[in-house]
Amino acid sequence: MHELALAQSLWGIIQRAAAPHADRRIERARLRLGMLTHVDPETLTFAFQAVTRGTKAERCELVFERVPVTARCGVCAFVGPSATEPGLCPSCGGAGLTVLTGRELEVVTIDVEDPPDA
Ligand SMILES: [Zn+2]
Repeated sequence: MHELALAQSLWGIIQRAAAPHADRRIERARLRLGMLTHVDPETLTFAFQAVTRGTKAERCELVFERVPVTARCGVCAFVGPSATEPGLCPSCGGAGLTVLTGRELEVVTIDVEDPPDA
């Protein structure tokens, strides 16, 4: 299952990012998710919960920012939104589109719980 492998690598990224706060629970992770990744946020969240069960991220909320697909045309220099799969240029009809955004799957920020009162 695609999302399960993604959830495992996501957990690896979050663990490394949260390493300075290894004793604290991870409460929230914000992700940028490009529309071209074909990842379903609900499925990924479900898989992430399964992967992190029993860890300090087991109640971690995943917040997704969906990144639309944009592309640049190598023929007419059009830059703008594209269909979900880049196909023909909406301006000149040429097939020279290069994807600029929409393939992202990255962790933007991670929130850990507040430190215990000293
Ligand atoms: Zn074009």
